[in-house]
Amino acid sequence: MNTVLDRFLRYVQIDTRADDESASCPSTPGQLVLLRLLVDELRELGLEDVTIDGNGYVMATVPATIDRDVPAIGFIAHVDTSPEMSGTDVKPIVHAKWGGGDIVLPDDPTAVLRVADDPALAAQVGHDIVTASGLTLLGADDKAGVAAIVAAAEYLVRHLDVPHGPLRLGFTPDEEIGRGANHFDVARFGAACAYTLDGGSVGELEFESFSADAVRVSFLGFNTHPGYAKGRMVNAIKAAARFIDRLPGEGMSPETTDGYQGYVHPYQLEASVDRTSVRVLLRDFDTAQLRDKQAAVERLAREAAAEIGTRVEFEVQESYRNMREVLDRHPDVVEKARAAMRRLGVTSIERPIRGGTDGSRLSFMGLPTPNVFAGEHNFHSRLEWTSRQDLEKAADLVVELARVWAE
Ligand SMILES: [Zn+2]
Repeated sequence: MNTVLDRFLRYVQIDTRADDESASCPSTPGQLVLLRLLVDELRELGLEDVTIDGNGYVMATVPATIDRDVPAIGFIAHVDTSPEMSGTDVKPIVHAKWGGGDIVLPDDPTAVLRVADDPALAAQVGHDIVTASGLTLLGADDKAGVAAIVAAAEYLVRHLDVPHGPLRLGFTPDEEIGRGANHFDVARFGAACAYTLDGGSVGELEFESFSADAVRVSFLGFNTHPGYAKGRMVNAIKAAARFIDRLPGEGMSPETTDGYQGYVHPYQLEASVDRTSVRVLLRDFDTAQLRDKQAAVERLAREAAAEIGTRVEFEVQESYRNMREVLDRHPDVVEKARAAMRRLGVTSIERPIRGGTDGSRLSFMGLPTPNVFAGEHNFHSRLEWTSRQDLEKAADLVVELARVWAE
């Protein structure tokens, strides 16, 4: 039997860094290497319906051990890692029975996990902490989830006395560049609900996310030779500057909000006299208030445009919606996650996600999907870490959820 830690250490050494410049799916070939390895491992374990589709999505079934008609439930993890940090030659290090001192990563002594700065780490004295070596991320986000799901599947096929219905497993590419749900075939997956294992500390249970849109506001001016521009030039940059300056700040910008507060966030500018575009992110937990934010942005842009004399155009793109809108209609899904955690002696930690997950998209595609812990800490960073104990708890949670749903 492979331990969940063995699996994890194997998976993180495969470079699966996503690339948002790439149009292919998966965006990078390394992801396919891991996805194909998973196909082999799942077949070796004797799972049924092990498939990989043209976009690299891997699905498999752990067959039911009971005759009663219980719903199929799913477990999903993503194989890619963040484009923000190198994932090449990840050298995982197991700090066995960690004594509680700061952890200096050997390949770059300036990369130090300081216990004083990291209460989640401080709580794990005596555990087997896993880090990278200082030059790369670790990839616990989300190979911790991948390893936990495969380890749980192995446990279940070797312990047929555990009562459970059919379990569907899904391994996806390119979550980190927001494409993880793009080609997810919900109908073929065929589960009543699912859980992404892509969370942090033991106990994390996430079922509320932002509702999110992106708006591109374009000011259209008129360019002439500046020496002969009097009375003719209309400078789009100046309209955009006025607009940005008037965007709500305190209590409505990322740098002044937290918890349940939403925000309006200009994050990219392409500027010329002729045409200046401002990209703005809109975020709110309440979709109706998201629309209010959009209306406010358009009003401010129109005012600025009128004052300078440009035209203005808007392109609104829906990003994702608060999964709670779906999950509130399926209260069992979250309730059973709480129940499974209680049985493991774990207190659930429930906080809104100030972002989106694949689950936010999947929930609206017909697959209610909250997110649960996988033991990811300091993700997207050289200081990323997890622990053997976290990985084992995540695998236990999968097993326990399977049990709870069969009752
Ligand atoms: Zn993740």
